[in-house]
This record gives sequence, C-alpha cells and structure tokens, in this order.
Amino acid sequence: LAGKSYDVVVIGAGTGGYSAALRASQLGRSVALIERGERLGGTCLLRGCIPTKAFLRSAEVLDTVNSSKDWGIQATGTIDRDGILAFKKRTVDKLVNGLTGLVKARGIDVVSGRAVLDAPGRVSVDGEEIAAGDIVIATGSRPRVLPFIELGDRVITSDRALELDSVPSSVVVIGAGAIGLEFASFYRSLGAAVTVLEALPRIAPLEDEDSSKEVARVFKKRGIKTMAGVSIASVTESGDAVGVTFRSEDASGSAEPETLAAEMCLVAVGREPVSDGLGYEEAGVRLERGFVKVDETLATSAPGVWAVGDVASTPLQFAHVAFAEGICVAERIAGMDPPPIDYTGVARVTFCSPEVASVGLTEEQATERGEDVEIERYSFQGLGKANILRETGVAKVIARKDDKQVLGVHMVGPHVTDLISEAMLLTNWEASAFDVARLIHPHPTLSESIGEAMLALAGKPLHTQ
Ligand SMILES: Cc1cc2nc3c(=O)[nH]c(=O)nc-3n(C[C@H](O)[C@H](O)[C@H](O)COP(=O)(O)OP(=O)(O)OC[C@H]3O[C@@H](n4cnc5c(N)ncnc54)[C@H](O)[C@@H]3O)c2cc1C
Repeated sequence: LAGKSYDVVVIGAGTGGYSAALRASQLGRSVALIERGERLGGTCLLRGCIPTKAFLRSAEVLDTVNSSKDWGIQATGTIDRDGILAFKKRTVDKLVNGLTGLVKARGIDVVSGRAVLDAPGRVSVDGEEIAAGDIVIATGSRPRVLPFIELGDRVITSDRALELDSVPSSVVVIGAGAIGLEFASFYRSLGAAVTVLEALPRIAPLEDEDSSKEVARVFKKRGIKTMAGVSIASVTESGDAVGVTFRSEDASGSAEPETLAAEMCLVAVGREPVSDGLGYEEAGVRLERGFVKVDETLATSAPGVWAVGDVASTPLQFAHVAFAEGICVAERIAGMDPPPIDYTGVARVTFCSPEVASVGLTEEQATERGEDVEIERYSFQGLGKANILRETGVAKVIARKDDKQVLGVHMVGPHVTDLISEAMLLTNWEASAFDVARLIHPHPTLSESIGEAMLALAGKPLHTQ
C-alpha cells in the first residue's frame, strides 16, 4: 500500500463515500476506498436505513396479522425475536454483498483500516501513506448523546436498539425526529407502552406543523404518548428499570419535574459528525461545530479535499442526499460541472406508522418568503384504495395563489414515502396544478391523493367540495 498513488482517495465506505467512489471509477479515475469497519455500507446499510426498515416491515406484518379480521381473515401474530433479527440480517447481508461485488467490478481498491488526513493529497491508513489527486472525506456520523446521560444496557441509542436484546414492555424515547419516531412506532407494534419526549415545541419538528399534528393524532390512537416542549433532567438506570426525569413547561410556565419509569430508554437526539482525531483541521480543513465546512460545490477549505454525506455541513442527513453529494463530487473531480444541490427539493422521509414525507416549502416557510399561497388538504378518507387498506392519511399541498405552482407537499399516511417522489418531481420542475390536473392518475391508488389535490387547486375538485 505504502507509496501507492490514486486519482481519488475516499475516506469512509458509507453511502456518501461509496457513491463518490463508484461514480469516480465510472468516469475513468483510479480510486481507493478506505473503510475502518469490517464491511462496506456504513450507517445506512449496517446501522441505519436498511436494518430499521426491515424491523418496521416485521412490525407492519404483525400489525396486519393482528387486525386481519378486518379483511375477513382469522389470524393472530406471535413475535419471534430471532426471526425478526434473522430477516434483518438476511436483508442487510444481501445488500452489503451486492455492494461489495459492485465496488470490485468497478475496479475500486478497497483499503481496510483507519484513515488519517496528513495533508491535501496525502492520506495514511494505519501508518502507511497513500498519495491522492483528490480526497473525499465521507466519515459519516454517530449517535449523539446528551452529556448527562450515561448509556447502559437499558439506556441505548439506535446502534444498540438494532440488536433487539429483548422485546421491551415499556420504552421512553427521547427525541421525536425520524429515528425516534420510527423506533417508537416499532416498539408499539411489538406491544410496548411507549412515550416519546421531544424538547422542541412539537414532534417531527422539521416537518410542516400540520404533519406534526397528524402524526401525534395517529400515534395517540395507536396508544403512543407524545410530549413536546420537554426538557430532560436525568436518566437513571437501576436494576431492571430506567427512570427518566423531565420538566414540561405548561401554559403558566410552571415546570414541575416528572419521572417516567420504563424498561428501556432510547436516546434519539440526533447524530454528530465523525471528524475528531482524523487530522482534518491540521491539514487545513475547516470544521464548523464538528461538521466539515463545505461550499456549494462540496469543496472544503483545503485544496483538492471534498466532503460529502453526514459529516459535511450541508442541511440534510439522509442516505439519498449522501448519494447525490457523492456523485456531484466525483463529477466535479472529473472536470464536469453539475449544478449545486437544491436541498429544498430533496424529499424528507420518516418510516413510522403512519409514514411522514415532504418536499419543498412548509406553509410557514412559504409565508415567510412572502408567497401568497393557497393550501389544499386532501384526506385519504375519500380514496377507494385507502379504504381497502383501512388506512387514513392526508396530503397537504402548498401552491402559489396566482399561477398554482406547487411549492411544497406534506403527506402523512400509508406509503407516502413512496408517493412523495411524484411530489418531488412537481416541486422541482415547478409544475402548476393547472397542468398536472390534466394528467390522469390510476384508480384505485393512493397516488390519487395528489391527483385529487391538483384537481382541487385547479378549481375543479372531483371527490371533494
Ligand atoms: C437508525 C437510522 C435510520 C436511518 N434511516 C434512514 C432512512 O430511512 N433514509 C435515509 O435516507 N437515511 C436514513 N438514515 C441516515 C443515513 O443512514 C445517513 O444519512 C447515511 O448513511 C450517511 O452516509 P455517510 O456516507 O455520510 O456516512 P456513514 O454511512 O456513517 O459512513 C461513514 C463510513 O466511514 C467510515 N469511517 C469513519 N471514519 C473513518 C476513518 N477514519 N477511516 C476509514 N473509515 C472511516 C465508517 O466506518 C463508515 O462506514 C438513518 C440513520 C440512522 C442512524
């Protein structure tokens, strides 16, 4: 390894790193992909998107089986913890093997070990130095923990939760972002009593306010308690229980501490960048609260050094954002000129039940920008398909009043994480509801929610007033 030289050296084989490596090699560059973990894939494949969605699929099957009499089928489900873990493992293994084969087929050199940035153009892996034309930092993120919380067997983050050591009968989830909501939903489906505590004024705090309300409403119906505007005072593990003490400001401003006891506490208060002790600042790469500072081309402050994915100071931490950033950087290194990523146009997805998805501006953001907006809320109750699935949901479309251009779409309900892709095209292509209303959505499908909202915005609602 020592003395080797590559056009591109990528540090970290997660979503951002491997997509940069794949695209760079496709563009004819010699590439080394350095990974300190045992397998390729990073958070998304090994500890994030894929294993959590496998868990949520198991939960969905259980929920469906347990309510099967609604469809005239008599059945009840029993949890098989080993089976849930085996399904997750099979799914992850298949995708990791696929990725490993693809990386090999593209002629990328995978280097095993912990990389340190020595200087622009120089990286060392466990002490051996490699030369690089360009370097892509893609070292990702890890769970953030509040400084006063000590992790243990019953106070865990998502990493440990994926081991499913036991099926808990009660859980307190701290944090109501995507990860907190997904695990709350999962544990509830497995039968646990679940309480979600959020510091900000509402759950799903980054979503449109109506989406937050809808998730809280459906969660309540499912028996999940949510509390927002809460500040955590302490989390203590003792024997077979955890005590979570918190204050919740009521309208009068008084804040008496309360304590919740549960079998487990999941801390899901966000992710922090992996950037310390890797030589970044010493090599001239500026950090911002630990994130690698990048400009709109994803270049860092050091020449020939780029950053992508969760470690970069860009606004969204999603696998699909990391993919896009990795591809952009590889293309720029190859001398192409892809446009900067428009982060408002990226779809945001949360896979709890009900699912939450959105793209474009929230109502609040559109109003702040001085847009004169028209809002259309379409309830899934009017959809044949939703009735057959026995699900409810809502699609809220924010359009400009005069030309009916779609500025934002916010959905809560079944399969909205898939449905949002149509809305993603509408907002990014600056479509007008007048044009979209002429296009025909297949029946009976959930996609009719968007079709009906467009008809309503165009002044000719079909199944609504
Ligand atoms: C529980 C959970 C659920 C999620 N669900 C979704 C979802 O449904 N959809 C979605 O879009 N996103 C989801 N995400 C977010 C998504 O996983 C991340 O945004 C994405 O994986 C970021 O990719 P990355 O390449 O930046 O970092 P990572 O995937 O974290 O990869 C970084 C890699 O760098 C390696 N590395 C670090 N330091 C070094 C070093 N010094 N030398 C060599 N290698 C190093 C690490 O081992 C790791 O493999 C989820 C995240 C979590 C935690």
